[in-house]
Amino acid sequence: DTASCRWRIMAPFLWELPILMVVQLLLSSRKETEERTYMADATLMVNGTQYRRPEQPTVVVCIDGGDPAYLEHGVSTGIIPNIARYMKEGFYTVAHGTLPSFTCPNNMSIVTGCPASVHGVSGNYYLDRKTNQPVVMTGPELLRVPSLMSEFSRHGARVASVTAKDKLRKQLQKGMDLGNGSVSISSQFADRCTLAENGLADALGYVGRPLPDMYSADLSLFVLDAGIKLLEERRPDILYLSLTDFIQHAFAPGHPEADQFYRDMDTRFGRLEELGAIVALTADHGMNDKANDDGSPCVVWLQDILDAAFGKGTSTVICPITDAFVGHHGALGGFVRVYCHADLTAEQVIETIRDVPGLEQVLSREEVADTYDLPFDVEGDVAVLGDARTVIGASEQDHDLSGLKGHRLRTHGSVYEADVPIVLSRPVSDLYTRRAEAGRLHSYQVFDYVLNGTVN
Ligand code: ZN
Ligand code: ZN
Repeated sequence: DTASCRWRIMAPFLWELPILMVVQLLLSSRKETEERTYMADATLMVNGTQYRRPEQPTVVVCIDGGDPAYLEHGVSTGIIPNIARYMKEGFYTVAHGTLPSFTCPNNMSIVTGCPASVHGVSGNYYLDRKTNQPVVMTGPELLRVPSLMSEFSRHGARVASVTAKDKLRKQLQKGMDLGNGSVSISSQFADRCTLAENGLADALGYVGRPLPDMYSADLSLFVLDAGIKLLEERRPDILYLSLTDFIQHAFAPGHPEADQFYRDMDTRFGRLEELGAIVALTADHGMNDKANDDGSPCVVWLQDILDAAFGKGTSTVICPITDAFVGHHGALGGFVRVYCHADLTAEQVIETIRDVPGLEQVLSREEVADTYDLPFDVEGDVAVLGDARTVIGASEQDHDLSGLKGHRLRTHGSVYEADVPIVLSRPVSDLYTRRAEAGRLHSYQVFDYVLNGTVN
C-alpha cells in the first residue's frame, strides 16, 4: 500500500533525523545561552572599574553647586526630609570633587568614574598653544574615555541623560546608543529635541512643562521632572540628571529662594524613590561667598598685573569657568591658567605673583598636574588658585559684572569649593563602609558606590 511504500522510500533517510534534532537543539540552546549571557552579564567593565548591572532603576543626580552647606542647613531646618532620611538611613559622606572645581570637569569625572588626568576635561576653556586661541573644552572629541551611560547603553541597558545646559549634553551623550529607548536631552534646548539626536521628540510635551528660562530654578527642576517622567514611562536602568547652579550662585544657604529650591528638589527625589529608583546625590562643586566686606567682589585682576610687569601680549590668562552663562558669576572663579608667550618663563610669572594677597597657590604646569591629577597636555604654564574669599580674573575691562545686579559674588573653582556630598538612598555594604572610612572618597566613585556598594 502507499503507506508502506512511503515508509520504504523514507527509511534510508531516517538515520538523519536524530542528527537534525541534535543540530536543532544545539542551535536553540546556543540562542538561549546568548540570551542568558546577555541577561546574566551581571557586570560591565568601564574604564577599569567593574560595575554591577542595576537590578532596579538607579538615578544619579549632580546638584550643580550643591555645596554640603546647603544640605547641613536643610537637615537642621527640616526642609529636606527625604535627603535627611537618606543621610541617616542610607549613606552620606563628603568627598573630594575634581579640581578645578568647575562644572564640566566634575561632570565628566562622575560619569566616567575617572580623574581628569584620564578623561581629559579640566575646564570649560583651554588655550590652544599652536593657534593661541581659547578652545571650548566641552566638545565631545575632548572627552578621552567613554562614560558609564555610553557603555551601558551599548550593552543593552536603557539609559537616560538629562542636563540643564546643552553644552554638557553633547559631552555626556558621547558614544551613547539611543536605540533601545535611551534618551539624552537638555532642558535648555528641550524645544529642539529630535528622535535621531535625542532619542525623544517633543520633550516639552513629554515632560508637560514650558521651556524654562536660562537663569532660573526651573531649568534644574525641568531636569528632575523629565527624569520622573522617563522613570514612569520608560523605566531606564540608569538615569543621570545634571542640574545648574544658578540658585547657588545667587543665594546662600538659608536664603528663602535657596530653601525653596532645596524643598522642590527634595520632593522630586522622594518621587523618584517612590517610583522604585535607588537615588544617589552628588555635586560637581560647592559654592562660596567671594565678596569684600563692603559687598564688592574680591578679585585679583591677574592679566592686568602680568601686563604691567611684563608688557601686553607676553601672557594670556585663561579663566576656565567661562561659558555662555556668565551673567551670575562674571566669568570669575578661584582657578586660572597662565600661558606664557615669547621669552616669558613660568619661573618669572611665579616669582612675580607668588606674594600677591589672595593668591594661595601659584603652581608650575608639572606641579598642578601632579597635585590635582590633571591632564598635563592642556595645562597652562602656571596655575593660580585663590584663597577661600578671592577670585581671579583676567583684565578688569574684559569681565562684565553687571549680571550680578547688586548681589554679592558667590562662585567656585578653588580647593574651597571642591568638597562635594555623596548621598545614597540605600546603605552600603561593610566593605564599602570600610573603604569610605579608610580615606576620603572622590566624587568619581559615586557610580561605583551606588551600583556596587548599595545593599537592601
Ligand atoms: Zn557647576
Ligand atoms: Zn557655576
